Amino acid sequence: MSFDFDGQRAVVTGAAGGIGRAVCLSLARAGARVLAVDLSAEAGEDTADLVREAGGEALFVAGDVSLPETHASYAKAAADAWGGIDIFMNNAGWQGEILSIIDYPLEVFDKVMAINVRGVFLGLKTVLPVMVAQRAGAVVNTASLASHIGSRNLAPYAASKHAVMGLTKSAATEVARKGVRVNAVCPGPVDTEMLRDIEAGQSPDAAEALRAKRAASIPEGRYAEATEIADLMMYLVSGHASHITGQGIHINGGAYGI
Ligand code: NAD
Repeated sequence: MSFDFDGQRAVVTGAAGGIGRAVCLSLARAGARVLAVDLSAEAGEDTADLVREAGGEALFVAGDVSLPETHASYAKAAADAWGGIDIFMNNAGWQGEILSIIDYPLEVFDKVMAINVRGVFLGLKTVLPVMVAQRAGAVVNTASLASHIGSRNLAPYAASKHAVMGLTKSAATEVARKGVRVNAVCPGPVDTEMLRDIEAGQSPDAAEALRAKRAASIPEGRYAEATEIADLMMYLVSGHASHITGQGIHINGGAYGI
């Protein structure tokens, strides 16, 4: 499927990471202008440079998505440079610690919720008014397979990703008659830094063995590539998905019980 986002204005959070960078590059190759947002200034600037090297137009805003001022900054940058936002990939996330609920520090629970739930909520609260004023726009929140199943020693992460689905479904109903669609992607394991961190936390002495075992447990026998998640995100914000809203689309090679 080919995509044409010529001239469209896209904001991507978590743009320095595996999935965020992949979708920035895919959007740029399809003609979109890309505003990348990430906590990591250096890696975020690298994403913007890669977009430019690919022939695209890029801006970068550094910031923490759990803070309202980050959202105000990128919204202002997009308004000043381009006058609006057509595509929003509300993607930044953090896995937290790999610990049982019994051992989980409350402050880490709060941080997971601040990034994954408050951050996504603030993203919606910031971008939806822009899109509603335009009577056009599409949002993809990055949820997870963990939005639908329990995850041992990752309870705050799983809870936060369940909440992302609640936000997605609710937001979609609020803007469905205002020209704006809101969906989520629900990836299973994706070959990014986050998953390597999770594996190292789950099995500090044998992370590679855990990785191989987990990949083998997936019906397709492998993790997703970030570009495969980017393709689904692109589809969901494209005109091909014009009647899809309020959905969490699974992309997991057939894995439902890892
Ligand atoms: P990643 O670790 O490669 O990227 C995450 C990015 O988010 C990083 O660049 C990081 O700097 C940024 N980030 C973290 N906290 C931030 C904050 N407070 N403010 C701004 N930016 C922040 O991981 P990824 O796999 O690309 O993850 C992207 C999204 O996909 C996340 O929401 C994650 O939960 C979700 N996801 C990942 C997997 C997987 O297996 N990798 C599976 C399902 C869902």
